Amino acid sequence: MKLILLGPPGAGKGTQAKMLVQELGIPQISTGDMLREAVKAGSPMGMKAKTYMDSGELVPDEVVVGIVEERIQQPDCADGFMLDGFPRTTAQADALTEMLEKKGLAIDHVICIQVDNDELIRRLSGRRTCRNCMAPYHVEFNPPQKEGVCDKCGGELYQRDDDREEAIRARLKTYDAQTRPLIEYYEQRGLLRPVDGSGRVEEVFGRIRQVLR
Ligand code: ADP
Ligand code: ADP
Ligand code: ZN
Repeated sequence: MKLILLGPPGAGKGTQAKMLVQELGIPQISTGDMLREAVKAGSPMGMKAKTYMDSGELVPDEVVVGIVEERIQQPDCADGFMLDGFPRTTAQADALTEMLEKKGLAIDHVICIQVDNDELIRRLSGRRTCRNCMAPYHVEFNPPQKEGVCDKCGGELYQRDDDREEAIRARLKTYDAQTRPLIEYYEQRGLLRPVDGSGRVEEVFGRIRQVLR
């Protein structure tokens, strides 16, 4: 199964992706996580990406498309994968269709998680992320058992630079301008599966399961 998780920053894509990995046994491909890895490693690509990420803008299409193209060639993607945070522009969506077509493949479902803006801001401003395994937590809605420590791997939790108020507002704007048009893009192609992202994590997961059934 090849899935896309679409939705604004803070909708719960990463949270749901981690649960879907368990359920479906296919890998999560998060371009945000891969870019943050590159930043941490201090690679030239990472250094370039950081300036865009910190200001809430998108990293140039060719950079992200290259990362994804390389990643989906890996053997663990042979039976499928879920893309979390990619595509984010119509140019990326076209590039994805093309790279899959070359291999005779296609996306099965685009799960679009919908959450209103006030809730997105509440979710993003309280988010904490594991430095080690990238698992998302929330100080109020999804706290770890021990403050500041990842339940899954014991890693340190931190607040992403772009989860501060200024950058959050910029990212929501970027989403509206550049990513929201993908909803219509995939609707026209018969792939869009809208999912109500409000309510508890488990409720949202139940709705996604329904859609995939
Ligand atoms: P979110 O929590 O908003 O879903 P991500 O971790 O997916 O955040 O992305 C963080 C940042 O990484 C984005 O604001 C953007 O700068 C960059 N990024 C991630 N994925 C993409 C992409 N597909 N295209 C361009 N930039 C991306
Ligand atoms: P995205 O990957 O779409 O940016 P995340 O999965 O990182 O979103 O979730 C954003 C924040 O909201 C995190 O702090 C996460 O713990 C929290 N969160 C995710 N799903 C829910 C939910 N259903 N209810 C409340 N908080 C949630
Ligand atoms: Zn962890």
